[in-house]
Amino acid sequence: MKLDVNALRYLTKDEFRVLTAVEMGMKNHEIVPAELVDRIAGLKHGGAYKNMKTLLRHKLTHHDSSKYDGFRLTNLGYDYLAIRTMVSRGLISGVGRQIGVGKESDIFEVVTPEGETMALKLHRLGRTSFRAVKSKRDYLKHRNSYSWLYLSRLAALKEYAFMKALGEHGFPVPRAVDWNRHCVLMTLVKGFPMVQVKQLSDPPKAFDTVLGLITRLAQHGLIHCDFNEFNLMVDDDENITMIDFPQMVSITHRNAEMYFDRDVECIFKFFGKRFNYSPPGIKISKGTSEAENLDGDDEEGDGRPDFEAVAGGEESLDKVLEASGFTRKDQEVLEQFIEKAEGEEELSEEEEDSEEEDDSEQLQTETTDNSPDAVESFTKLTIDGNLDDEIDSTRDPQS
Ligand code: ADP
Ligand code: MG
Repeated sequence: MKLDVNALRYLTKDEFRVLTAVEMGMKNHEIVPAELVDRIAGLKHGGAYKNMKTLLRHKLTHHDSSKYDGFRLTNLGYDYLAIRTMVSRGLISGVGRQIGVGKESDIFEVVTPEGETMALKLHRLGRTSFRAVKSKRDYLKHRNSYSWLYLSRLAALKEYAFMKALGEHGFPVPRAVDWNRHCVLMTLVKGFPMVQVKQLSDPPKAFDTVLGLITRLAQHGLIHCDFNEFNLMVDDDENITMIDFPQMVSITHRNAEMYFDRDVECIFKFFGKRFNYSPPGIKISKGTSEAENLDGDDEEGDGRPDFEAVAGGEESLDKVLEASGFTRKDQEVLEQFIEKAEGEEELSEEEEDSEEEDDSEQLQTETTDNSPDAVESFTKLTIDGNLDDEIDSTRDPQS
């Protein structure tokens, strides 16, 4: 899939102003009345109405006249607003191919004005699970379609804040460059997700590195919660980079130990299956991923690091995070959503298939072609004038 940013080049300042007005109106309206859009935009001579038509034609808004004449923002509309902001901040000047598609995000290659290729992650919380969840679960019944904007924005803020804090504390993560709305701009990681790696020259070393990351995170008060072969990138020199942080939790979370053990287990399982490796003292029984302890040296007798023993000690990044504007309340909202969505997922997985797991079905992500000869084409974006000065208050529509 390619993000069609062509129209972004031709949209006028006024059209963007009207699109922003729709976004602002969505804070309080499921469907924003056309008249309100007009009022927020504050253009002379009813100019907003003409612009609303253009936005609709480009599928940046959706028209609904079931109750009254009004509009809501589409995914693409939200993307355009965020990308335009990134462009006007001088951070990116072109959008290229999609390099990843997760369950709740799309990742695109973008290029900076200096010619550096970076990654832009667009969060799409609620894209899949939200709709399903909404129909069945009470807790979201009173939310409106603004929820996906709100949740996706929270996820982006959280990811940015974590990535920045982790990078500053020496963790191997992409450099967090900036964020806006549901988008996070970060440096591009060379290499492939570990799930695509068939062989390693030194599995024990990689295993220690990876397990070391989990324990170091815990020392800093954090648990990744989605620590697996999809979220570890490996380059040609087998350097490992950790990605994907919206679901991280604090070691003070009530399920912290369970999440920690789950992250550890993922790595034991994957290294056992893929690289036929398990650390000394652990034997992988043939045909299963269950590890058997041979010497029983460690306290639990299972070779896994003990949560109680490793958690805490170092400066807690939890605190750093709060300073970034990502509040405890934000964390709770996001956690609630993620946990419920996970619950839904497990339910439907159980219903759909109880068959043996197969490597191929774990490929949630599209194969990434990071080879140098992969065609690099970017839709160049430039912007006339600086819209941000004028609509500065809308940079953060929630404030
Ligand atoms: P999700 O939360 O949807 O799983 P991820 O952050 O894990 O999103 O990204 C999905 C995929 O996109 C990754 O598996 C990886 O292939 C690719 N990707 C994400 N971030 C980067 C990056 N900074 N550099 C290169 N590839 C990336
Ligand atoms: Mg991921």
